[in-house]
Amino acid sequence: MNAPQSLLPALDEIRAHEAEMVAIRRRIHENPELAYEENATADLVAECLQRWGYEVHRGLGVTGVVGTLKVGTSTRRIGLRADMDALPIKETSGKPWASKVFGKMHACGHDGHTAMLLSAARHLAATQRFDGILHVVFQPAEEGLGGARKMLEDGFLDLFPCDAMYGMHNMPGLPAGKFAAVPGPALASADTCIIKVKGKGGHGAIPQHATDQVVAASAMVMALQTIVSRNVPPLDAGIVTVGAFLAGEAPNVIPGEVELRLTVRAFRPEIRDLLQQRITEIAHAQAAVFGATADVNYIRRYPVLVNDPAHTELCREVIRDWIGPQALDLSRSPETGSEDFAFFLEKVPGCYVFIGNGEGSEGGCMVHNSGYDFNDACLSTGASYWVRLAQTCLKVGG
Ligand SMILES: [Zn+2]
Ligand SMILES: [Zn+2]
Repeated sequence: MNAPQSLLPALDEIRAHEAEMVAIRRRIHENPELAYEENATADLVAECLQRWGYEVHRGLGVTGVVGTLKVGTSTRRIGLRADMDALPIKETSGKPWASKVFGKMHACGHDGHTAMLLSAARHLAATQRFDGILHVVFQPAEEGLGGARKMLEDGFLDLFPCDAMYGMHNMPGLPAGKFAAVPGPALASADTCIIKVKGKGGHGAIPQHATDQVVAASAMVMALQTIVSRNVPPLDAGIVTVGAFLAGEAPNVIPGEVELRLTVRAFRPEIRDLLQQRITEIAHAQAAVFGATADVNYIRRYPVLVNDPAHTELCREVIRDWIGPQALDLSRSPETGSEDFAFFLEKVPGCYVFIGNGEGSEGGCMVHNSGYDFNDACLSTGASYWVRLAQTCLKVGG
């Protein structure tokens, strides 16, 4: 265990199975699978759910797994969601359960998310202390490839209608076992834009016979930086980052094509639309100034993640009731990262919470870092939160 067990709150019956669930977490960690290849992980999840009495559906979003458990007579339905995919990073954590697969690792803690939800699923099935329909959702490909969107396209909500959906992600830097839930826009939209500036390349010594795509793209980079300062209303947020500027090779050649790659973030759909519109206009206009043209490929990836205020309050209440107000960090602001769960929350109200992974050497290493590891001391705490939330939403006699 990474920290003394007694430090973090958890339901006794969840704690009783902790060793088994930590073993599952570490088994998943040792065998990381990238987006849409989560076959062994999905096998493990499906096998557990089946054994515990869930009706199991596989194949939504290629490798997604949904377990359904109906208890009592209520028609209320909720979905609890975890993600299963790993990242293409070579692990350096040095842990005994470090990745056995070269170049792949669970650097975002999705192994822990899967184990926390499995632990809760086991307990909810064993105790049956709720009234309604519970869907536990294990999605693929959260890391950039839109596994949630794919599950929705494959008919997730037609097969498993939900009145509300909930998500949870670990957060290094937040004390272990503490929670944060931000109402409203909590995570940014994340889009990618590829701009190809095209024209007539030529000899570096004879620029008058060419159009200079490097100069045009340079002016474009500067002009793009005026969007947030001059077009986005001052009290709104937006991010336009040119992360890649790919141009030429030789000092004496004017390249015929230059490519810019941008990441674009916003917290409101209107601002997202504005950013797309202004990037497109500026790219074309700046290219034209220098006699070049621009191909603009704006790719809408993840939408803004919006936590429904009432559901956010409900999640906070669950934590206050169960652990106490000190377990909630109310100081958190929206984060500029993004999350695939936003696709579910576009369709169904709900809330996505953060659970602290710890600080310093106890879980403080940031996600997507090769030294990161999910903090097992939080596993039962997260699982207990899921259980309490499900029992609150699907309250017996409620
Ligand atoms: Zn991640
Ligand atoms: Zn993640």
